[in-house]
Amino acid sequence: MSKHGLFIGGEWHKAESYAPNRNPSDLADVIGDYGRGTAADVDAAVDAAAAAFVAWSHSTPQQRFDVLDGAGDELLARKEELGELLAREEGKTRAEGVGEVTRAGQVFKFFAGEALRLTGEKVASIRPGVSVEVMREPVGIVGLITPWNFPMAIPAWKIAPALASGNCIVFKPADLVPASAWALVDILDGAGLPKGVLNLVMGRGSVVGEAILGHPKIAAVSFTGSVATGRHVAATCAGRLAKVQLEMGGKNPLLVLDDADLDVAVDCAVQGAFFSTGQRCTASSRLIVTEAIHDRFVAKVTETLQGLVVDHALKAGTHIGPVVDEAQLTQDLDYVAVGIREGAKLHWGGERLNRETEGYFLQPALFTETTNAMRINREEIFGPIAAVIRVKDYEEGLMVANDTEFGLSAGICTTSLKHAEHFQRHSQAGMTMVNLPTAGVDYHVPFGGRKGSSYGPREQGRYAQEFYTTVKTSYVRPL
Ligand code: NAD
Repeated sequence: MSKHGLFIGGEWHKAESYAPNRNPSDLADVIGDYGRGTAADVDAAVDAAAAAFVAWSHSTPQQRFDVLDGAGDELLARKEELGELLAREEGKTRAEGVGEVTRAGQVFKFFAGEALRLTGEKVASIRPGVSVEVMREPVGIVGLITPWNFPMAIPAWKIAPALASGNCIVFKPADLVPASAWALVDILDGAGLPKGVLNLVMGRGSVVGEAILGHPKIAAVSFTGSVATGRHVAATCAGRLAKVQLEMGGKNPLLVLDDADLDVAVDCAVQGAFFSTGQRCTASSRLIVTEAIHDRFVAKVTETLQGLVVDHALKAGTHIGPVVDEAQLTQDLDYVAVGIREGAKLHWGGERLNRETEGYFLQPALFTETTNAMRINREEIFGPIAAVIRVKDYEEGLMVANDTEFGLSAGICTTSLKHAEHFQRHSQAGMTMVNLPTAGVDYHVPFGGRKGSSYGPREQGRYAQEFYTTVKTSYVRPL
């Protein structure tokens, strides 16, 4: 079995220990053994990054463009092979895996351009004979900590802007998905990144993650993951005055009004709630539906769910792959039981499925007759489980949509321009969608939420530079 080590200072190193990376569609399929780093590896990665920083932070925009653009080309050229690898280790379908690698390639190409577009300002001083320049500079060494559900796209949308702005990186992917991270770093190395600029330390959050949070030379930490870990990341970073950016969970509402196009609404709900096995921070887990369309909507969603194939992620014809691991499957099944205990009606699905291969297959679950006070509507489940909440009208629907600790994405299905525009302005989410699924975003515009979903500057698009740069104001009096 091939052993995959850590990437520190431009070289692949042996790790102290290795863990098998198993395919959740087929537990007998081991993708490889992947290294688990230690705090000492994080120290070595930081030293390598520090040694590389002066040269990289003063590299020309053209140098950065060439590396990022080259990595983007390589990702796009190898999207089938890498998409299969991603699907094999995470469990999303082949098409979703290929789509995610394509997105990662697009992100690198966009930020290649951003390297050329970094600008500053020259401002007249209030004092005679003095000029003022406001320039953006890299933050320094950044720690990037990512979750398992988008193993290529999320690392890409952190690594690419970090590099475009001239930072050096210590990258820790989630324990469950080291293969995508390994492949991505290998591609960046092949694209000509100087030694030490990007370092990969795989391993446990409690070991490698903690070492990143506490390292005095890591100036900024960008984290995507659960709320519980995110709060800890923020507290630790604030304690030593490191810059921090968090993207966390969601409990995203999709509001369906009586005047909605039924087919569009059902498609948005099924896509948003159940595809990628519901393991998306932007998944539509609360389907808020007004009275007159409620029964037709539930009947059609159920009919669509009946036609969806849940099976091995790489099998032709599979619509929904497995849940990522045993712990997540247990959590999903526990929430199905919680919903039933709370008095919700399990309208469809929610059972573990057996398939030809041993894997974590779960039938998508649809609850009806739920209230927004139920735990299944308040806590992030992170599985293919959605709950329908019946409401009287748009006003009640908006109130229910906003009645949550989260605020990542929110959608409305309606043909009323008045309600669509009102929703855009009054939703308390960072991203709103009209007649579109709550999941599925563009890469050249800001991504992020409000309330308990996000903290700190936005990711993606031009806005990414807020986090990865710091401003310097320079005063000059020419003599
Ligand atoms: P998680 O919080 O368990 O882990 C995220 C990362 O943090 C992993 O790399 C993990 O190893 C690391 N980590 C764990 N403990 C740590 C510690 N003590 N110190 C430092 N790092 C530590 O989350 P997950 O289960 O990998 O991902 C699922 C979560 O991610 C869901 O809540 C989902 O909503 C969220 N998510 C959010 C977004 C977004 O952009 N808002 C996108 C994708 C996923």
